[in-house]
Amino acid sequence: MKTDYDIIVAGGGLAGMISAQSVAYYSNQKLSILVIDRNPEPTLGKKTINGWICGDAVGKNTVDYMTERIKISWGNPEIEHPVKGVMAFSPDRETSIPFDGDGYMLNRQQLPKRQLRDAMKMGINMQYSVALRNLLYENGTVVGVEGTSLITNEPFKKTAKIVIDASGVTSMLRNGLSINSKIEKKIDRDDLESTGRHIMKFDQGIENKTDFDPDYCIIHLDQDIAPGGYGWVFPKGKDKVNIGLGVQQKELQKRNQRLGANDDVTKLINDYVKMNKAMKNPRLSDDSSDSVNVTGNWQVSVRRQNDCLVANGYMLVGDAAWMPKPLDAGGIGPAIVAATIIGKNAVEAIETGDVSERGLWKYNIDFINDYGYKTAGLEIFRRLLQTLTNEQINYGMKHFLSKLDVEAISKGEHPDFSTVGKLSMMIRGALNKKLAEGLRFTAQQNKLLTEHYYNFPKTPDGYDNWHKILHQILDESYARLVN
Ligand SMILES: Cc1cc2nc3c(=O)[nH]c(=O)nc-3n(C[C@H](O)[C@H](O)[C@H](O)COP(=O)(O)OP(=O)(O)OC[C@H]3O[C@@H](n4cnc5c(N)ncnc54)[C@H](O)[C@@H]3O)c2cc1C
Repeated sequence: MKTDYDIIVAGGGLAGMISAQSVAYYSNQKLSILVIDRNPEPTLGKKTINGWICGDAVGKNTVDYMTERIKISWGNPEIEHPVKGVMAFSPDRETSIPFDGDGYMLNRQQLPKRQLRDAMKMGINMQYSVALRNLLYENGTVVGVEGTSLITNEPFKKTAKIVIDASGVTSMLRNGLSINSKIEKKIDRDDLESTGRHIMKFDQGIENKTDFDPDYCIIHLDQDIAPGGYGWVFPKGKDKVNIGLGVQQKELQKRNQRLGANDDVTKLINDYVKMNKAMKNPRLSDDSSDSVNVTGNWQVSVRRQNDCLVANGYMLVGDAAWMPKPLDAGGIGPAIVAATIIGKNAVEAIETGDVSERGLWKYNIDFINDYGYKTAGLEIFRRLLQTLTNEQINYGMKHFLSKLDVEAISKGEHPDFSTVGKLSMMIRGALNKKLAEGLRFTAQQNKLLTEHYYNFPKTPDGYDNWHKILHQILDESYARLVN
C-alpha cells in the first residue's frame, strides 16, 4: 500500500521528537517522517494548557545514552542547571539516601526549540495544531491517524507504514486501539499519581540543606505532606526552584480522613512551599524562558511499562507506554532510552517489509534489556512504600538500608535488603517487623520478576504463557501488600 509517510509520530513532546530523530538517524534520513502535535509551533510539546508540567530533572547517564547512540546532544539553554544527584529525606529528615548521580535540570519550554532545530536539519516534517482522535486501520493493521485541525476545524487524515504513539499518558490512540493486540489500553487509577509544581524564584531564607540545596534535587518522603508520593525541591539556580509534589488519590483520601482535612493537590503544594524556610518571599518565575510554564498540575504513571509495546503497524513510547519509573515517576530517562532505541527497530521492520506485531517485536526486548527489566520489581516496592506510616519510613531508612542497598537504589535498581533478615531478632515494634518482612518479600519478588523479564519471549508466540506467569507473580505480590 502506498502511504503518505513511512513513519508518523503522534505527539511532538520529548519522546516523540527523539523518536523521530532516531528514525532519521538509523535510516540515514531516507525514510519520510511526520511528527504531529496539537500545539502550534511556538509551544510544541506542551503537555497541557498550563505548560510542560514536569519536575524537569534527568540523569546525565540517560542523556549520554542518547548522545552516544544517535548523536543528539543538548546544552544551554535547554539544560538550565547541573546537579550532583537526588537526595531523598525521611519524614523526620534524619536520614537521606542519594540517588542517580550527576544530572541536569532541563528547561522544558526551551527544549522543544532545540529539538525542532535538530529535526529540521534531519529533514523531519512537522504538522502543528492537529488534535488526533483515532488510528486508521486496514486488515487488522494500523495504517495511519485521523483528527481535526485546530485552526480550520477540517478533518485531518494521514497514512504511514508505522505509527509511533508518543502522545503522553492519556493517549487517545492507545485507549481506542481497536485491532487484535497484546497492548493494555487502560491504566488502573491507583497506578497514577496526581502531581503538580511551580517554577519559582525566591530570596535567601534560613540556609538548610534539607530544604534547598543548589547542588542536589531534594525529595521529601512524608505521608502527611505527599501521601503515597513525595514532595520535591529541585534547584534551577541559587534562587530558583522547581517545587511540587505527587500523591496517590487513594492515599490522599486516607490522609485527609486521618487528619480531618479536605486538601487537594494544589493546596498541598502551596502548604509545602510555605513550610520551606530556605525560600523567603517565593514567587512564580518571571524569567522569559518560563513565560508559559510556571505552574500547573498533571498526572504521571508509576507502574511497569505496558506489558506489550507493539501491535501491527503501531509502537508505544514514553508516557503513552507508561514508562516513568515506578519508584520516583522519573519518565524522562526511560523516554530517552526507548525513543533512542525505537528508531532502529522501526527502520529494521520497514527495511525487511514486516511492520506486523512480529516484525516490531524486537522493540519489546531491546527496551527490556536496557531499562524495562527492573520496572515490575520497582512497582512492587512502590506499592509497599505507599502503605507505610511516617514512623515506619523513618525507622526503615535509618535501620534497614545497608551500603549495598543504598548503592542499588542510587543506580535505580531494587535493593535486596540482605541485612534485614539478619537483623530480624533486634527489630523493635510489630509494625517495623512487618516492614522488614515486606522489604524481604519485595526483594524476593523483584528477583523473580527481573528473571522473568529477561525471559521475555523472542517472538509473539510465547507471549500468552509469559504474560500469564507475570500476572501470577504480580497478583501474589499485590495480595501480600494490601494494607
Ligand atoms: C508534575 C510532574 C513532574 C515530573 N517530574 C519529572 C522529573 O523531574 N523527572 C522525570 O524524569 N520525569 C518527570 N515527570 C515525567 C515526565 O514529565 C514525562 O515522563 C515526560 O514528559 C514524558 O514525555 P512524553 O513525550 O512521553 O509525553 P508528553 O511530554 O506528555 O508529550 C506528549 C505530547 O503529545 C501531545 N499530544 C497529546 N495528545 C495529543 C493528541 N490527541 N493529538 C496531538 N498531540 C497530542 C501533547 O500535547 C505533547 O506535546 C514528571 C511528570 C509530572 C506530571
